[in-house]
Amino acid sequence: MDFQPDAGLTAFREEVRAFLRAHLPADLAGSQHGVRSPRAALMHWQGILNEHGWGAPCWETAHGGTGWTPQQRLVFDEECAAAGAPTQDVFGQRLLGPVLNHFASPEQKAEHLPHIFAGTRLWCQGFSEPGSGSDLASLRTQAVRDGDHYVVNGQKIWTSYAHEADWIFLLVRTDTSVKKQAGISFLLVDMQTPGITVRPIITIDGCHHLNETFFDNVRVPVANCVGGEGAGWSVTKFLLNNEHAGTADLPALLRLKKQLRSVGATLRVDGQPLVRQPAFALRLARLEAELQAVSMMVQRVAVLEQDHSPTAHVMGSMLKIRGTELQQKMSEFLVESLGDYGAIAYPAESHAEEGDTLPVPAAGIGPGLASAMFFRRASTIYGGTSEVQRGIIAKLLFQL
Ligand SMILES: Cc1cc2nc3c(=O)[nH]c(=O)nc-3n(C[C@H](O)[C@H](O)[C@H](O)COP(=O)(O)OP(=O)(O)OC[C@H]3O[C@@H](n4cnc5c(N)ncnc54)[C@H](O)[C@@H]3O)c2cc1C
Repeated sequence: MDFQPDAGLTAFREEVRAFLRAHLPADLAGSQHGVRSPRAALMHWQGILNEHGWGAPCWETAHGGTGWTPQQRLVFDEECAAAGAPTQDVFGQRLLGPVLNHFASPEQKAEHLPHIFAGTRLWCQGFSEPGSGSDLASLRTQAVRDGDHYVVNGQKIWTSYAHEADWIFLLVRTDTSVKKQAGISFLLVDMQTPGITVRPIITIDGCHHLNETFFDNVRVPVANCVGGEGAGWSVTKFLLNNEHAGTADLPALLRLKKQLRSVGATLRVDGQPLVRQPAFALRLARLEAELQAVSMMVQRVAVLEQDHSPTAHVMGSMLKIRGTELQQKMSEFLVESLGDYGAIAYPAESHAEEGDTLPVPAAGIGPGLASAMFFRRASTIYGGTSEVQRGIIAKLLFQL
């Protein structure tokens, strides 16, 4: 394929840049420092995007989205990352939104879509359970019908940002007498419903991203079941197969490249910028070459997705492995580049407390680097582990 952007895409990039220059408030720029922007920044930015008609960059125009091609979406993500714009709500925007557009009843759409556009309701994903992660179909959280409600009992784990979310999309078992995939349903649940308890899991970076979520006789209207009772597995396959080009998280890689370049230019060794050191420059060049390769593969997968090619699926698995391993390598290099100072985990600015006065080399870059590096260890686990992705490649590509 031809990797040169056509004139239309170049013009689109200019349009996005102009939009960001005009509409991204200075106090929001830079709030993408961590894995996800704080709730207030994320919601504020979503409102701004929505006012401009860009509230749903991944949705088709028929559903009120921008109707952008996968390549345009990449450009949008790249430019937002470069400008330091806040993240969007991945769960509401990218995962649930397309599912609702495809499977939801008119009432469900009317209830939820406007809030996703406007950024007034945040979502979390309740799939994994202790013992049911990669083998999701074995999940045990049960929903038993009682009149026009389900009564839900069970436990979810690793529920990202459940403590900030307003609603959760939840996989439950509604039938134990059939094949395990056929007995699963997909429910939309208000997090304020009595009987839901969220307990934090503090991760290796010292931050609160994850939770255990418990359901104790939680009553959920039957009307909140998406796609019909027992259709949860089909809905989930649709949700998980939705976006393959995004699995490498190119915006995160581009941010890491920017940070590495800043560290190379800012830190000094023997009076010279670090980037003049051959060992640093060589390692940076190698990582940037790898990033270039991943970036070209992302573009390729975006084109395959546009053409609805089945190859996009297996390429998405390859990208997940390559992209997340590269994230880990780049973030480790960043911390190593700080030398002895890298052994200290400076809190990210958003997590800093008053009195945090440790000397930080490359101030403005150093804080949060170590905790981000630790958190990136998880990138080869969430969204499907690398081993599971290799299994998909072996099966789909090599028919093993
Ligand atoms: C940071 C983070 C955020 C997350 N956010 C969410 C969230 O918001 N919502 C949610 O529902 N879940 C979330 N998860 C859970 C995530 O989806 C699971 O951790 C993941 O699917 C793996 O499942 P598991 O942890 O049960 O490990 P297991 O599936 O038990 O795997 C254990 C080990 O066995 C290997 N393995 C398993 N099956 C196979 C196989 N078939 N072939 C080869 N090797 C295999 C795995 O690769 C792994 O090394 C998150 C996880 C993390 C780390």
